[in-house]
Amino acid sequence: MSDYMFMLENHLSPGQNRAVALVEAAARESGVRAFLTGGALRDMLGGFPIRDLDFTIEGPTQKIVRLLEKRDGVRTDLVDPPRKAYSLVFADGVKAEISIAHEAQYLKPGARPRIRPATIHEDLKRRDFTINSIAISLNPASRGLLLDPENGLGDLERRELRTNSNYTLYDDPSRILRMFRLRARLGFDLNEKTQSQYHNVREAGLESKIPAEALRAELREMAEEPNPAGLLETLERERLIGLFSPALSGVKLNAQGFAKLLKIRQMVPFGVDFHASNLGLFLHTLFEKFTDRERKDLIKRLKLTAKEASAPKELAQRAKKLERVVGSPKLNRASLVYKALRSAPGEEVLFLMAHSEKRIVHDRVKNYLTKYLETANEVTDKDLAPLSLDPGSKEFAKAKLERVYATLDGRIRKPAPPPPPPPAPPTPMNAWARRG
Ligand code: ATP
Ligand code: MG
Repeated sequence: MSDYMFMLENHLSPGQNRAVALVEAAARESGVRAFLTGGALRDMLGGFPIRDLDFTIEGPTQKIVRLLEKRDGVRTDLVDPPRKAYSLVFADGVKAEISIAHEAQYLKPGARPRIRPATIHEDLKRRDFTINSIAISLNPASRGLLLDPENGLGDLERRELRTNSNYTLYDDPSRILRMFRLRARLGFDLNEKTQSQYHNVREAGLESKIPAEALRAELREMAEEPNPAGLLETLERERLIGLFSPALSGVKLNAQGFAKLLKIRQMVPFGVDFHASNLGLFLHTLFEKFTDRERKDLIKRLKLTAKEASAPKELAQRAKKLERVVGSPKLNRASLVYKALRSAPGEEVLFLMAHSEKRIVHDRVKNYLTKYLETANEVTDKDLAPLSLDPGSKEFAKAKLERVYATLDGRIRKPAPPPPPPPAPPTPMNAWARRG
């Protein structure tokens, strides 16, 4: 196995590894060449957590998508017909996108580009930033080969954001927003030439050419950022925030609300199975300091769908229902609190933590996030080995949950870790080291 393939397998979650294997197999059967591209490679090579998977196919995507759908139970949705791009949701919830390798010709800044199928090399070169222009081959003959035509690896090492061409930001000014989002997330510097390209684009006022759909897409991406407050402040400093809403400045950025949300997110222990849909939480926080009119203006300006626009209100309503369940006197054991909160979507739990004014609810949610999730995560399949059940079976899952409940309620204690080994008797070497 190539070093990069090995590195990739180690960086991806088990579910993401399964997704890569399924796409690889489906591509082979469909007779097309598949590559993993985009953020996953950047994040793997830069040592950042991998968020989602983007696959690029040399050849048509329809056949491979149908195979994934029919055989592997992947939910698919055609999201961008010109790029033949589909969103994929695998059976275990892993998200990805798949599209054809293509070139894009921009006739006017901000206008929809003309798309034509291309090789993976051409596709990588038309991308926005060098660190986003790396691919790894998933094809039998070259599996694990890294393609890096713009030397993104070098820029990752230098911690620099560099555009692939002198026209990157002119062609598609929405890339300015991507640039600041990436910079806020990774803490990289802008390369000097990229910086002067940015200044020229701003001098020409091209940010006004960013279409509403691109702003809306960017808002959705912002919601997924771990710390949107930092990004919002940068956009305010760069005088770009007004593209989203002229109201957004100063206290209206709700730095306090976002800081609180960040603190709550950080309560969730690393590596536990906890999923939250972020858009409702983000919009709720963003709208907190808005007047009704300002909120309506943003919704109209960005052409948010009815579902997106109502996400914050709908989330608050769902959380209210959960609050009643969690506040019930019947939940008098840790396992019952865990059970109630585990079955609720993560965003409702986080919302309650941020907004519930009921002391009992607040305390229970806090215990769930800071203690129970961790305790439950410490119950492993190995603990159930004496039961000799099939780890894939329903009985096994049930027995595991029962064990989690019993541990939470203190009916089973984890064995104490073994005592540290006694100090080694002095050998000539360590006796010398001790002397030193
Ligand atoms: P994230 O971790 O936020 O998903 P990402 O880099 O994967 O980061 P995506 O929006 O998923 O971002 O896009 C996947 C890839 O597609 C990017 O890495 C980049 O190579 C390319 N890309 C996306 N948007 C653009 C754009 N407007 N112009 C050029 N290339 C783009
Ligand atoms: Mg991505």
